[in-house]
Amino acid sequence: PGLKNQIAAGEVVERPSSVVKELVENSLDAGATRVDVTVEQGGRGLIVVQDNGRGIAAAQLELAVTRHATSKLRTFEDLSAIASFGFRGEALPSIASVSRFTMISREQGAADAAFIEVRGGEVAGRRIAALAAGTRVEVRELFANTPARLKFLKAESTENKRCQDTLMRIALAHPGCGFSLTVNGREVFRLPADQDLATRLRTFWPPSACEGLGPFDFERLGYRAHGVAGSPAMAQSRGDRILLYVNGRPVQDKLMLGAVRQAYKGMLLSREYPQAVLFLELPRDEVDVNVHPAKLEVRFIEESRVFSTIRGGIVQALAVLTD
Ligand code: ADP
Ligand code: MG
Repeated sequence: PGLKNQIAAGEVVERPSSVVKELVENSLDAGATRVDVTVEQGGRGLIVVQDNGRGIAAAQLELAVTRHATSKLRTFEDLSAIASFGFRGEALPSIASVSRFTMISREQGAADAAFIEVRGGEVAGRRIAALAAGTRVEVRELFANTPARLKFLKAESTENKRCQDTLMRIALAHPGCGFSLTVNGREVFRLPADQDLATRLRTFWPPSACEGLGPFDFERLGYRAHGVAGSPAMAQSRGDRILLYVNGRPVQDKLMLGAVRQAYKGMLLSREYPQAVLFLELPRDEVDVNVHPAKLEVRFIEESRVFSTIRGGIVQALAVLTD
């Protein structure tokens, strides 16, 4: 079982930031309103994700770290109506197969928490433990048993930054949940629950990038684009401040990026990029978010509708900003 999970881990768990992503998405799936993340040594030393979600029953804990033990997919029909982030039950067993993994969880209403430790995919210990309601996952020695993967990791500071970016992307899409990130013992950010998008952005972007942001909310034929977009006068030479989401998930998508740029056509110089955070919402059966296990890429059925909805949204923001 260990080897099979290690192979799957290569798909799901490319680097420390993939671990952060999978664990935080699990916390959100569990209804958490508070998620605290700790990263040490670029994630190779330690990754901790603690939440106040509904927890896992003690009897289910071992199953949760076993291959394909998802609680989120019950029937075949669910496949086309995936409401939660996870639906394959691969993340925890994959992570546990390439690390020293512990999980402690207390189901809401339960008297005790349960603890399980997995090393290289094998259960190495379990006991009753203490924890406030919620779940705490600790991942140590990531990739220590897969030297090939270890070799692909970048400098510690780069991996730290990727973990930070990953959590930032998720936090922007979940304003109702509070988040914190601590790297090497230093608190990088702490976001209270129920902040609006503009307030959250100010934690992540410098003031100059937050100036001249206009909100938009555009709907057409069941597709909706909402978020904030920057005035062309505030355009910058860096392109990493265009953050795209589909149905709440961070994505990287050329079609969507093209639609954003199209809306600014004629307003930007060739090497200038606007700022934008754009959430596209569309019927779940008109988008395939499972092209790759890391779930960053998407495929759309109605590409022209995606394009025109996004362009419509940005144009709406620009109409106000350039007025
Ligand atoms: P998936 O998210 O695809 O279902 P995972 O391997 O990520 O698969 O998680 C396996 C299962 O463990 C989940 O379906 C869920 O039941 C449980 N689980 C994982 N993390 C948490 C958490 N933070 N809180 C509550 N339950 C969790
Ligand atoms: Mg999951």
